[in-house]
Amino acid sequence: MPALPPAVARSGLMDTHGRQATDMRLSLTDKCNLRCTYCMPAEGLNWLQKDQVLSRSEMVRLVRIGVDLLGVRELRLTGGEPLVRADLLDIIRDIRGNHPDLPISMTTNALGLDRKAAALRDAGLTRINVSMDSLHPDTFAQLTRRPFLDRVLKGIEAAAEVGLGLVKINAVLMRGINDHEAPDLVEWAVSRGFELRFIEQMPLDADHGWTRDGMITAAEMRKLVETQFVLTPDPRNRDGAPAERWEVRRNSAPDVVVGTVGIIASVTEPFCADCRRTRVTAEGKIMSCLFSREETDLRDLLRTGADDDAVARRWQEAMWAKPKAHGMDHTGLGAADFVQPDRSMSAIGG
Ligand code: SAM
Ligand code: SF4
Repeated sequence: MPALPPAVARSGLMDTHGRQATDMRLSLTDKCNLRCTYCMPAEGLNWLQKDQVLSRSEMVRLVRIGVDLLGVRELRLTGGEPLVRADLLDIIRDIRGNHPDLPISMTTNALGLDRKAAALRDAGLTRINVSMDSLHPDTFAQLTRRPFLDRVLKGIEAAAEVGLGLVKINAVLMRGINDHEAPDLVEWAVSRGFELRFIEQMPLDADHGWTRDGMITAAEMRKLVETQFVLTPDPRNRDGAPAERWEVRRNSAPDVVVGTVGIIASVTEPFCADCRRTRVTAEGKIMSCLFSREETDLRDLLRTGADDDAVARRWQEAMWAKPKAHGMDHTGLGAADFVQPDRSMSAIGG
């Protein structure tokens, strides 16, 4: 890894392309109770052993180092499925105790959220993103390989009821499966005050089934939504957010803004130049980019008595080497020099 210039060693998570990572994504587990076709194989993956996964205190320590020493300003808990982690509430409570003002959000499939939403809010979770790709039970089951749409809807309802901030809904559109649902998903979300975000399917599936023709592009997503709505760019500053936001008006009442929709075009309109993310996998590896093939281990430092400065320094070194872009934008999709990472989305922490 390249040596850090002294000025960088005293600052946060800088890279050689002038970006500073302030948004930490922490994967709490690699395990999941769904098997979304664009993420996991039907039979699941070889799960990490319990002792390979960072403990509650190791995770809480890494967040403290990130926030107190390295300029992290927001935290997203993810996975795998964070709700399957038995000590989830304790982890959130500990982090909240250390950082009273830190925005802490969580991306989840919402299975079991109906029972946990109030406790999550009380523990200090600020906001929730729920992944839900279809409003039809059969399509949901086809995409996730599990017949649990009703449970997901219950979880979303509970999150909204207990006031877990603005509920955001993530939907991946898959050609010929749920792409026709784009306008219905928008209607469902805006009529409940949720912010829907469509995500382009990325080549991060364990089955390596992603194809360029198979994926629905951001341009197609806009066209699908515009069959029933008028979309205009949201005047609010994007401010490093992955989603490009659009104001939504119904075709039938084009003067009234009824909500916003976000489109995350990681493949066709990548936002690498503004990327502020630093990712920590469930076993304590830093990944500077979702598509990174380089991983930097922090767990061995945590388990061999290294002090906070040593951990921070290795984290900085990993981020200093962050590539300028993930490669798909400059070389063309499917270009010979773009190599799909070994890890699937669930094993990184999306
Ligand atoms: N299990 C939780 C969930 O599904 O919300 C959190 C982890 S999941 C890996 C995080 C997000 O990644 C989800 O919104 C999911 O839709 C998205 N995702 C997974 N695989 C993807 C892929 N190949 N392309 C685009 N998004 C993907
Ligand atoms: Fe599980 Fe989330 Fe991956 Fe679906 S997208 S298989 S819910 S980790």
